[in-house]
Amino acid sequence: MLMKDLPVPLWLILTEALKIRIIPGHYKLPDIEKDIAKIKAGYKGELILSHFVNQLPHDKYYIFHDLQLVHNGIHFQIDTLLITRNYILIIEAKNIKGTVLFDNVFNQLIRYNNDGTEDVFEDPRVQAKRLCKLLGGILAANGLNFLPIDHLVFFSSTKTILKTNTNDYRTLEKVCKGRDLFSKIEGLEKTYTQPRVNDNTIIDLAKFLFSNHSPMKIDILKEYSLSSNDIRTGVCCPKCLHIPMTYLKRRKWHCPVCDFISNDAFIAGVRDYFLLIKPSITNTECRSFLHIPTIDTAQKLLFQLNLPSSGSKRGRLYFPHSIEFPVLSERTSLKSGREVPHAFYNKK
Ligand SMILES: [Zn+2]
Repeated sequence: MLMKDLPVPLWLILTEALKIRIIPGHYKLPDIEKDIAKIKAGYKGELILSHFVNQLPHDKYYIFHDLQLVHNGIHFQIDTLLITRNYILIIEAKNIKGTVLFDNVFNQLIRYNNDGTEDVFEDPRVQAKRLCKLLGGILAANGLNFLPIDHLVFFSSTKTILKTNTNDYRTLEKVCKGRDLFSKIEGLEKTYTQPRVNDNTIIDLAKFLFSNHSPMKIDILKEYSLSSNDIRTGVCCPKCLHIPMTYLKRRKWHCPVCDFISNDAFIAGVRDYFLLIKPSITNTECRSFLHIPTIDTAQKLLFQLNLPSSGSKRGRLYFPHSIEFPVLSERTSLKSGREVPHAFYNKK
């Protein structure tokens, strides 16, 4: 049973909004673009993993994607968690292209690039073991440690060449690639043959995990040592990404570069404000950020979004519906351009 879907990573949403809004030619732009490529690669790996895992028998496997928990002050994220009546399985997804070597001497992962350079990553086996410990810790602390916890490391690209500098291949038994995931899971089913809990206990576990799911709060400007002065204000053209569009009248904007006329491009602008500046907005802030000429127009636009709000008249604060923007769609998330997740403005 699919218990928790895979959302578009908040990091990706934030860095893409930042890339569009940052002043053109800014010296931080190459870093942001590099990070976006990395996050997209990771997300793609998680999507491929979710595609495989969602094929497992739904009566046997309770599936959770992207669980974020805190134990003893440590925030940790589990790409994919499977709960069965017999055991719990943590799967760590990796999307690393080329040739990678598991260095068993220093417990690190080395990628050999075509240009002769090398990149070093933390050994994902070490990461996955650490996640098992943290999850075990939080479940034990809450009297929910009924099931043994195991792990796998999944490489999403079948073209990845995996190597190791040891002859002891047992150290790689938790590592798999592509569809080999299914044979690894079959192997684990032969290890954990004894049912230890019933479905009701699994539902209790699921409720606990949901209520403790804590998405990390990210101040993206702070992460890149930027301030609001580095951000361009105005409505962004959904066609050519020019900022700012010019306000015409009757809640319509015109792009001076590509001539596109839009009556809803401001929605992405309000969302950018929430993502980059702060998670609330007033009428005055909205007018200033989106270059809206009058209080009345700004009020009508904010009303149109049906956002949660508090306070009244001038001091009214509007809030986003959801911080996490839970949408699962490769189409929306892996392409460039502006698409506002429906959860942002349709949720009532
Ligand atoms: Zn345009």
